[in-house]
Amino acid sequence: MNKTLENTLLAAHSASLASLQETVQNCHACLLSKGRTQTVFGEGNPNASVVLIGEGPGQQEDETGRPFVGRAGKLLTEILASVDLQRDRDIYICNVVKCRPPNNRAPLPEEVKACSGYLLGQIAAIKPAIILLCGSTALKSVLGIATPISKVRGQWLETPFGDNTLAMAIFHPSYLLRNPSKEPGSPKYWMWQDMKALREKLNSLKAK
Ligand code: SF4
Repeated sequence: MNKTLENTLLAAHSASLASLQETVQNCHACLLSKGRTQTVFGEGNPNASVVLIGEGPGQQEDETGRPFVGRAGKLLTEILASVDLQRDRDIYICNVVKCRPPNNRAPLPEEVKACSGYLLGQIAAIKPAIILLCGSTALKSVLGIATPISKVRGQWLETPFGDNTLAMAIFHPSYLLRNPSKEPGSPKYWMWQDMKALREKLNSLKAK
């Protein structure tokens, strides 16, 4: 793609994401709006090949307005860096719901439903080649798959977003914090295998 066209597309993506973000900031479509300090829309490169989707904001995300900060976010940043992926440069990161569920509980089905249009809007604007579904809430919300992550992780899954967009389910970094072992067969070991598969897929897409 030539640089001018690339810049034009980037500007268009940013504009549509910005207008979606403004809508989200004023959203009261579910009860999660009552407990939030602020919405957490998402951040990263709007032209990225990879979109990573988590569950919902936690306390620090709610306070800062940024996704995946705090201990889990720091671990995620390190995991991505291990396969030369920088958060701002290579990935767009967001969550299934944009407001913090109380006491860090999983979002309820009606909350996921109320917020789903925003997530779909983000995916439609970015048109990623790869979606990383981080944890079971993201897997269930985006692909309707209720199978445990340990059973489906590492597989390239078809998505409803077209043949050019594949998904992979990966462990949530919060789960890895609770399971620190790196022994073969441990969640951290499998996360490393999944990151290597992601890097290989990105390299093969670049070579096309
Ligand atoms: S979680 Fe989503 S649908 Fe619910 S109030 Fe926040 S932005 Fe709106």
